[in-house]
Amino acid sequence: MSRTEVVALPVVGRRAVNAHLLLGRHPIIVDAGTPGSGPRIVEQVAAHGVDPRDVRLIVVTHGHLDHFGSAAELRRLTGAPIAAHAADLGPYRSGRGRLPYLPTGPMGRLMARNRKLHEPAEPFEPDIVLTGETDVSDFGVDGRIIPTPGHTAGSVSLLTDDGDLVAGDLVANSFLGLLPGRPANPPFHDDPLANLASLRAMLALGPARLHVGHGAPLDPARVDRWARAEQRRLGRRAARGRLPSRPGDGEAAPATAGSPAPAAGEEV
Ligand SMILES: [Zn+2]
Ligand SMILES: [Zn+2]
Repeated sequence: MSRTEVVALPVVGRRAVNAHLLLGRHPIIVDAGTPGSGPRIVEQVAAHGVDPRDVRLIVVTHGHLDHFGSAAELRRLTGAPIAAHAADLGPYRSGRGRLPYLPTGPMGRLMARNRKLHEPAEPFEPDIVLTGETDVSDFGVDGRIIPTPGHTAGSVSLLTDDGDLVAGDLVANSFLGLLPGRPANPPFHDDPLANLASLRAMLALGPARLHVGHGAPLDPARVDRWARAEQRRLGRRAARGRLPSRPGDGEAAPATAGSPAPAAGEEV
């Protein structure tokens, strides 16, 4: 079995928004960045010695614009099929991110007002519609795509047999990477408790390295400690009826009127 190397392809800034290149027997790209970042991604793929036409698969982790924004363009540039989960088909087919954005903290509240976040992307139809765990060894990487719902209903992660977990927005770095190595929530989660359950299920599989859409790779042991503290914090917020929730999503999070007020100790 050949070792699969995972390299970050920064799309915005040094690592504020990342796609990833998986160098297995054949290359796979995970995530497609913001709208218009196809050429930047393809240039970086080539800089790693890979002919973009050799890319076998594009995996889109979820229906937010900073992850699927250039998927259609990247498919044209590489010729590779796109795999994405059925539960986020709405955003993929409309070219608009899942709405409303439900902030996890001050950063999310600030970003929700940013008009760039709401600019539409080119819509696309996934070639492979995911509904469950999916082996990707036929595409050149020994590993599997695993549904990890919560951040959005259709969020997925990719775990290689070497222990690299490419996790999209399951967890992020503080301030989108300004504090590298420090785990935090990304700016938005549709269902924070469901996301945390997905994160803890992935940690239970014992990944060796955790690659995320926002910031540097994270140490799974440190993320595990953060996840335990986050479980307690969310439990306290849920008890006070202060977890944001999308109407009709999940029973654990009671709906609150309007935007929830910031809480002390909230991370971004
Ligand atoms: Zn996201
Ligand atoms: Zn993101």
